[in-house]
Amino acid sequence: MSEQAEAPKTLLITLTGKDRPGVTSTIFRTLSHAGVEVLDLEQIVLRRRLVLGVLVTAPRDWKKLRDEVAAAAEELGMQVEIERGTGDNKARREGRCHVTVIGSPLKASAVSAITGRIADAGANIDRIVRMARYPVTAIEFHVSGIATDRLRTSLVEEATKLGVDVAVQPASLIRHSQRLIVMDVDSTLVQGEVIEMLAAHAGCEAEVAAVTEQAMRGELDFEESLRSRVALLKGVPEAAIDAVYESIQLNPGARTLVRTLRRLGYRFALVSGGFSQITDRIAADLGIHYSHANELEVKDGVLTGEIVGDVVDRAGKASALRRFAVDVGVPESAVIAIGDGANDLDMLNAAGLGIAYNAKPVVQAAADTAVNVPYLDAIMYLLGITREEIEAADAAAGIVTPAPPV
Ligand SMILES: [Mg+2]
Repeated sequence: MSEQAEAPKTLLITLTGKDRPGVTSTIFRTLSHAGVEVLDLEQIVLRRRLVLGVLVTAPRDWKKLRDEVAAAAEELGMQVEIERGTGDNKARREGRCHVTVIGSPLKASAVSAITGRIADAGANIDRIVRMARYPVTAIEFHVSGIATDRLRTSLVEEATKLGVDVAVQPASLIRHSQRLIVMDVDSTLVQGEVIEMLAAHAGCEAEVAAVTEQAMRGELDFEESLRSRVALLKGVPEAAIDAVYESIQLNPGARTLVRTLRRLGYRFALVSGGFSQITDRIAADLGIHYSHANELEVKDGVLTGEIVGDVVDRAGKASALRRFAVDVGVPESAVIAIGDGANDLDMLNAAGLGIAYNAKPVVQAAADTAVNVPYLDAIMYLLGITREEIEAADAAAGIVTPAPPV
């Protein structure tokens, strides 16, 4: 006898209509009289319209139950569909991933293009959940039946054309683990490049900016370019570092990102080709556990134009990531790296999830995913954390985030 023939008869009840208190309890009171077993249960509410799906075993006299449920639904003023069939839901296909789409705004044309690509690839969308409505709209699709890498390649191409952010990640237990987040500092955690702010004090801003731009595009050896730029800072008073630190603006969402994920036991590290005199202070301010950067040499209250010890370059950033992962006791696959420049590439590759944040094209092309909306906290939507959960945690801690009118 086949498995199919042995599977019990089941009833799928789909109820839709205006949400009101007591809908689910009314339907279940009716079901409980029939003594049926619950196999699955899902409910969503969109703008006060409720969709309730219930899968239960079919009793012998299933038609009697059908009529009772129909009567209960009518009393509630709701529409109901009752379908008799066999067994549980079909098992989800192998090759499961999460596709997060972030738009500001999120146009229907973008969702059309993304879901069209998923369908063309022969994959299924099994579930769709909204992660956030503002300041961006973020939607998560649970997809099955396709290898993550294959779908990523196809969707990244589409995302670039559409001007939305799309992240494709394997559905795995790692999403629920406490992870280490390793962040670049200049143009990632903070706005702009600290070395340029220091250069402004030395009157050589334009000269330094030109070299920075070339280095971040990967056109220059990082160490060579850093040393030549730092040399331009020779004679700048040490007090300039304090002035620069005071003027630094974090990127939007930085504090929310660190505060929220720290509550979940995440660890954070700053790994920067910039300067420890700045990054250590930012780390202390935000409650970031580790930081690693270059140290500007100071003698007699002025910068000497030299760096103390080895330069933290592209390879140095990746090895710092590995060192911190060992110290935290997580595998590299559980590390999330965030960066924008060419010197972040090794670090982004070393991490389980490498995120190019408002990054140069060369970095976006090489990273696992790109986030181009200007909010660091949007990264949490990729980790399966909703805006609502973030705000609830903040509210419990007495931090109020006012929601804009819809
Ligand atoms: Mg950077």
